[in-house]
Amino acid sequence: MPTMDLRIAQLHLETSKLMGVDFLPIGDEHSEGRTLVDIRTDHDNNCPHCTVATGYTQTVFGVGNPHAALMFIGEAPGAEEDAQGIPFVGAAGQKLNQIIDAMGLKRDDVYIANVLKSRPPNNRTPLPSEVELCGTYLHQQIDSIQPDVIVTLGSPATKFILQTNTGITRLRGNWGEYLGIPVMPTYHPAYLLRNYTKETRQEVWSDMQQVQQKLFQ
Ligand code: URA
Repeated sequence: MPTMDLRIAQLHLETSKLMGVDFLPIGDEHSEGRTLVDIRTDHDNNCPHCTVATGYTQTVFGVGNPHAALMFIGEAPGAEEDAQGIPFVGAAGQKLNQIIDAMGLKRDDVYIANVLKSRPPNNRTPLPSEVELCGTYLHQQIDSIQPDVIVTLGSPATKFILQTNTGITRLRGNWGEYLGIPVMPTYHPAYLLRNYTKETRQEVWSDMQQVQQKLFQ
């Protein structure tokens, strides 16, 4: 930034402070000013997948701090999420809560969303076509939140965010990037629960330690 702009920015900050504004209005400058509330309304009215899909109770948009530094992205709502309208509240959600706790964070500090906002029939893996249609709203959520770090949980989220066909076993633990935001792929908590071995637990924990380092560096 040229010196003159810096002086103007400083003056602006000082004036704002004098007027009682002592926080930075983070968030309003991205996603063309679209808040998560706007994006949610748009999604629920217009998502070309969710508005025609059947068999689900309600959409599950996302939960947490709209300015979170850390964002977790899962696959799609399951039965419990479909019933409550909140992501990651079932067994996998309890495991995710433990992971967040172990990182020294609270669930309210982070933002949690899924690639697909409506529960697929019988919890099947989302189809690529469904992911493409509904996923544009996830992109908008990221654009609005502007997290410092994204953690993708499992294969569908990782493949969509990193636009890759490589499997999660090869990708986990290695930084990727989404529009300049560092992305750490790790195993889905449901996979961790199904494969609750020392090795898998160590892998997920080492991925989260990398995330902590990135957040606090
Ligand atoms: N699994 C997911 O991927 N998302 C949820 O919200 C719950 C379970």
